[in-house]
Amino acid sequence: MDILISGASVAGPSLALWLHRAGHRVTVVERAPALRGGGYAVDFRGRVHLEVLRRMGLLDVMRARATHMGDIAIVDRHDTVRATLPSAIFSGDLELLRGDLGAVLYAATRDDVDYVFGDSIASIAQDADGVDVTFERGAPARFDLVVGADGVNSKVRELVFGPVPQRSLGVYGCIFTMANEFGLDRAGLMYNEPRRTVTIGGINPEKAVISLFFTADGLEHDRRDVEQQRRIVADAFEGTGWKVPRLLEAMRTAPDFWFDSTTQIRMERWSRGRVVLVGDAGYAGGPGGNGTGLAVVGAHVLAGELGRLPFERAFQEYERRLRPYVETCQKQASGGSDFLVPSTEKKIAQRDRFFRTIRYLPPVKHLFRHLATRTATAFDLPDYGGLGHTRDLSGNRGNLL
Ligand SMILES: Cc1cc2nc3c(=O)[nH]c(=O)nc-3n(C[C@H](O)[C@H](O)[C@H](O)COP(=O)(O)OP(=O)(O)OC[C@H]3O[C@@H](n4cnc5c(N)ncnc54)[C@H](O)[C@@H]3O)c2cc1C
Repeated sequence: MDILISGASVAGPSLALWLHRAGHRVTVVERAPALRGGGYAVDFRGRVHLEVLRRMGLLDVMRARATHMGDIAIVDRHDTVRATLPSAIFSGDLELLRGDLGAVLYAATRDDVDYVFGDSIASIAQDADGVDVTFERGAPARFDLVVGADGVNSKVRELVFGPVPQRSLGVYGCIFTMANEFGLDRAGLMYNEPRRTVTIGGINPEKAVISLFFTADGLEHDRRDVEQQRRIVADAFEGTGWKVPRLLEAMRTAPDFWFDSTTQIRMERWSRGRVVLVGDAGYAGGPGGNGTGLAVVGAHVLAGELGRLPFERAFQEYERRLRPYVETCQKQASGGSDFLVPSTEKKIAQRDRFFRTIRYLPPVKHLFRHLATRTATAFDLPDYGGLGHTRDLSGNRGNLL
């Protein structure tokens, strides 16, 4: 089949890899003018995520790119350590910078898949035999199937399913990188005031990833107005102590500044006719919702079912298998905002006490692993036979790797 995928981040290229392997002709259209970099770290955790990466043939090359972040010390405004968050909680089993993950997936597919950057789908019209697509820049074309892998604000979803209410988790945040002037090497610091969480991750001696998260009710922002977003963050953190004034200063000029609200997408169906959604476009979970793992697992299951069944039944089966897993992950994330951004001094103290006390329990390592992976592993990964063979894609395929 001729298959069009919208979005070249995690879900899109992962699906492209499988579909090419199954013999389909794949085009990926990405709105950004080039492969997106971006500093924040994403992670894979537990056997299901890692097995999918292994089947993709990418586990080793990803391991070579891992951040190897250590624990995060929770500190007060005088830098006194109040508790320690073990790396398993924040970094999972395999953590990569978002840009590095994107580069690995792109390098593994770019020779086999037709990538079009700097364009977007403008309209979709489907009939019994195919889908006519127009683009903002490129020439119209007809495909057998169209996949929306274009994230929380998916254009494909908007065009085919109409407005879908986004469930705000009430947490807003920005992430950017700056020079590592904190002496942190593969270690992090976290500082809290009620409704505000600041982390500094020293991913290497030169570079630190900063995240500033806060809670607010019904905050409106313009997704394209970066200066407005910088002002929103500066206002939310005005008067906050510790190193925050210095971080806000760096934020004002950070070229990789990213801001968003954390939202979940919950839909009754993930497909309509010949169009289907994968990853955040169909089922974004928000922080703690295993979004990156869901994107690669979802892509594998969708391609696996397409390899066994006609597309209508494959879409149904993809959804039937994956939905309980998605719901489990989304449920975990729904309760996560009070962990990520505690709302009162009391809740901050409770969290710190929990992490201080728990360190003295003997099987603590297993407990943290269990806490960190229990939703990510709550899935029986089907065996898709021939699709799952592991051609080694980690060799020299250009300078991106
Ligand atoms: C700050 C932050 C931290 C996170 N941390 C973690 C974490 O620690 N662990 C974890 O598991 N997950 C984490 N996530 C979630 C994770 O990033 C997502 O779940 C994952 O990236 C989903 O991948 P995706 O490919 O479905 O969507 P996205 O990564 O959102 O990619 C969508 C792609 O579609 C493109 N696009 C958008 N509109 C169009 C259009 N009209 N036409 C063409 N292309 C378009 C975008 O440019 C983008 O490249 C985090 C997310 C954020 C924002």
